[in-house]
Amino acid sequence: KSDSTYDYIVVGGGTSGLVVANRLSEQKDTTVLVIEAGGSVYSNPNVTDTLGYGKAFGTDIDWAYETTAQEYAGGFSQIVRAGKALGGTSTINGMAYLRAQAAQIDAWETIGNKGWNWKTLLPYFKKSEKLQDPANYPFLEGSGVAFDPAYHGFTGPLKVGWSSNQLNDGLAQKLNATYQNLDVPVPYNRDANSGDMVGYSLYPKTVDADLNIREDAARAYYYPYQNRTNLHVWLNTHANKIAWKDGNEATANGVEVTLSNGKKTVVKATREVILAAGALKSPVLLELSGVGNPHILSKHGIATKVNLPTVGENLQDQMNNGLKFESKKTYGSDKSADYVAYPSADQLFPNSTALGAELLRKLPAYAAQVASANGNITKARDIYRFFKIQWDLIFKDEIPVAEILLSASGASYSSEYWGSVPFSRGSVHLSSADPTAPAIIDPKYFMLDFDLHSQAQAARFIRDIFKTEPFADMAGAEITPGLSTVAAGADDKAWSTFIYSKYRSNFHPITTAGMLPKELGGVVDTSLKVYGTSNVRVVDASVMPFQVCGHLQSTVYAVAERAADIIKEQS
Ligand code: FAD
Repeated sequence: KSDSTYDYIVVGGGTSGLVVANRLSEQKDTTVLVIEAGGSVYSNPNVTDTLGYGKAFGTDIDWAYETTAQEYAGGFSQIVRAGKALGGTSTINGMAYLRAQAAQIDAWETIGNKGWNWKTLLPYFKKSEKLQDPANYPFLEGSGVAFDPAYHGFTGPLKVGWSSNQLNDGLAQKLNATYQNLDVPVPYNRDANSGDMVGYSLYPKTVDADLNIREDAARAYYYPYQNRTNLHVWLNTHANKIAWKDGNEATANGVEVTLSNGKKTVVKATREVILAAGALKSPVLLELSGVGNPHILSKHGIATKVNLPTVGENLQDQMNNGLKFESKKTYGSDKSADYVAYPSADQLFPNSTALGAELLRKLPAYAAQVASANGNITKARDIYRFFKIQWDLIFKDEIPVAEILLSASGASYSSEYWGSVPFSRGSVHLSSADPTAPAIIDPKYFMLDFDLHSQAQAARFIRDIFKTEPFADMAGAEITPGLSTVAAGADDKAWSTFIYSKYRSNFHPITTAGMLPKELGGVVDTSLKVYGTSNVRVVDASVMPFQVCGHLQSTVYAVAERAADIIKEQS
């Protein structure tokens, strides 16, 4: 093994990495190696169980990255989960298959990524997907699930659909009626994956509806193809850094790895090294390889190969809180309700126009604050451009500004929620030249007050749902936080104590190796190639320039599908 040579080395056998490895190895004369730090979880029940969300947390297949103490949010640190297994985070995630508002992907082009927009990405969403038509599954009768075939793929590797866990007792319909009875109704949306997410929907998941097990990247993109002789996977193998060709040019010729037996070796790549280690690892691997901010690298004795100071900057995540209410009915543990509402600004905020105007005035100060918090590595004028585009998305394009989930279990209803597009930005950087040392992860949660306001307003909105018929009649008292903890009519400050002490990462980190023009702080270009290198790409969630309102995986799969096409075209 140690003296092998491959055309392509993919670092990270996760959600994006397995897509790219699969597609490149479709070319029979092309050899591909996947390096994966974790092992196989093919028969791990914490992975396969479609009702087992959370069971894998804290086990050996969870990287459980820890953030720094979050100074704007009560001083607590947070755990950011990520899968350490073949299949990556798709083996431990919530399986929600929800894309983005079309305008959000179009914003990728607006910021300077020519050719990246909803229209050009939609074929790749479809290419990856194998939608399992609910009409073929009698157990879904009465559940209310629906989709629009125009927006889905039916022959891709990734199974998407609804399993026999789907609740079909009329709750979905009652919740819809409740949304329609709100003072400002949130309309029913038949298919939130159409590019228009606003509304109330029943969303599909990455499940195998026939077997009722999780569908992850390994089941979709690797196991059915594992007999390809040109596709190799090294499990339990840790990538340490990129190995470079001698000379001034930054041309990768391999990857230094630590094998499962503890031995270090360099495996050679004749064409490209493709980073797919996730948004909290790929930028750190770049830094370990000498690509990044020279001030940070030199502190750790790493020679600068490519001066690219924004590696690891622009980190964006969302923050997740939950409210809980008593339910008059008791729900069994064998069913799940996968109901989502995506309100626009007009639907969430009672004073959307005034709020928008106030936020617009604050944007220059926000941009200055972000820039100064990272030592002006990212420039205030560039951050302002992002923020203005984000403002336009919220107040002109009317993208969803919050995600409201509802689940029913035992004698309670729980509603997880988050503001979809926080403005705060942080960073991830290496802490040592030791590739196994934990990175310094600082998302700067709640740095900017709009983020707290959205989070508090979403909580007020959930309280309204539980006060509206027919839901009001089905639910009892509020359990969490409870009116004695956060009073009715509480302002943002009063909500903040609860929000800061109970929030968690929403596990949607992005933009740490952002696809952006170099002069705007980009790390990769529109072919996902790292600036200043001739053959290193990043294909995972790190490259997404803006947060999406759905969850990340569908977009990660689509971007990786497109990355594979780009790589094939260019080699
Ligand atoms: P990953 O899939 O994380 O792949 C990275 C891979 O690289 C991993 O296999 C890792 O082990 C490997 N690796 C890392 N470092 C090294 C190294 N040095 N050497 C070798 N290998 C390495 N999204 C949704 O769409 N729906 C959801 O319901 C949802 N729920 C989520 C719930 C949780 C708990 C989490 C954590 C995330 C959730 N997400 C969800 C987000 C989504 O799953 C991820 O954004 C997406 O899977 C990330 O894909 P990726 O390819 O960027 O990285």
